[in-house]
Amino acid sequence: MFVWVAVAAVGIIIALVLVFKYTKTGKNDVLGFSYKCKKCGQTTNGLKCPRCQPNTKDWR
Ligand SMILES: [Zn+2]
Repeated sequence: MFVWVAVAAVGIIIALVLVFKYTKTGKNDVLGFSYKCKKCGQTTNGLKCPRCQPNTKDWR
């Protein structure tokens, strides 16, 4: 019975560490769909992608 408690405690600690790492460092990676362009993958910080904007007439 004690092994179960130990395994559960270790799992909870690992989960907490992973969540802490994600929330502290890789928040943009977690919410990558809103911070990176889906087409070219460039970081846009929530703004429109400068590459994939529709008005690319004077881009030549
Ligand atoms: Zn793009």
